[in-house]
Amino acid sequence: MSVRPYRDIQRRASRQIHVGRVPVGGDAPITVQTMTNTPTADVAATVAQIRRAEAAGADIVRVSCPDEASSAALRHIVPQVSVPIVADIHFHYRRAIEAAENGAACLRINPGNIGSAERVREVVKAAKDHGCSMRIGVNAGSLEKHLLEKYGEPCPEAMVESALDHARILEDNDFFEFKISVKASDVFLAVAAYQGLADACDYPLHLGITEAGAQRVGTVKSSIGMGMLLWSGIGDTIRVSLSAPPEEEVKVGFDILKSLNLRHRGVNVISCPSCARQQFDVIETVKVLEDRLAHITTPMTVSVIGCVVNGPGEARETDIGITGGGNGTHMVYIAGQPHHRLKQADVVDHMVELIEQKAAELEAEKTASKNGAATAAAE
Ligand code: SF4
Repeated sequence: MSVRPYRDIQRRASRQIHVGRVPVGGDAPITVQTMTNTPTADVAATVAQIRRAEAAGADIVRVSCPDEASSAALRHIVPQVSVPIVADIHFHYRRAIEAAENGAACLRINPGNIGSAERVREVVKAAKDHGCSMRIGVNAGSLEKHLLEKYGEPCPEAMVESALDHARILEDNDFFEFKISVKASDVFLAVAAYQGLADACDYPLHLGITEAGAQRVGTVKSSIGMGMLLWSGIGDTIRVSLSAPPEEEVKVGFDILKSLNLRHRGVNVISCPSCARQQFDVIETVKVLEDRLAHITTPMTVSVIGCVVNGPGEARETDIGITGGGNGTHMVYIAGQPHHRLKQADVVDHMVELIEQKAAELEAEKTASKNGAATAAAE
């Protein structure tokens, strides 16, 4: 029995596939994806962008392969990055085969769109030969004509039917290593389509609210749509689509998962909005702190609260906290307990130092317990 059942999320039971070395579905952590927007044939620019996404925590990165130069570039891109690469293919089956041959870990392709059954067989064979999984990506904006005629407009039922039609083609080719997405820019449509699909199959689901917009509005839409689904246990991997750099998508993706306790990475800063009672500049402090703590990957919670109204209460739940106090003297909390006082001048430097120290301690504990488990297993 959980201590706080109101926080429990029961994940939908899905089968597990692999995107390269990264498991997706089953009991695997929910992964965060993004997509590059450089010309894929520009290897240096694409690798640099993938590395920025990796630094932000991306588990998987997708690149478009609209032409042969792009699928050929994968041969040079894949060895230079650590994350598995998904090749995004529309219609042209040759690109899919080339991508599989050149190191893609997964093909995003809709088998119903690539023409003959023979072509599907060739793509499936290339995927099997090279250990690629696939993603079927249904999009409300590009539903098949016969489904639009049948249903009159893009609707959840049409999207689920499209997804299952594509899935059946792969199943008929004895291929089951795939995940599915049913994206729409409309939050209601996307959520209903994913709910329908979650009931209709046990394939892992890749969540996304597509064409969500610029950073602020896209973040809001994605948080509502994906938040609703993730909260109800649906979703095995996510991509936040923003008209913003890929690393920003990754950060928002992690923040959504962190908000739901589904994944933990880096410092989670709890801060108050500040008001006339604040005893130091909360907004500026949080801004500078977030920048200076961006390199920390150790999961940790830090509270930055302007005054004693909410400071001690919030600090109780955190690893490290600071609460503004009178006369420019603030209270620092460690593991929820008041620890020492701090003068105004060095709030940021002092907090960064404490947090970095704590991160190093937690990492050392983790390594020690891993080594301990390995020694115990060897005995
Ligand atoms: S914690 Fe204090 S400073 Fe922050 S918003 Fe509340 S009353 Fe204002």
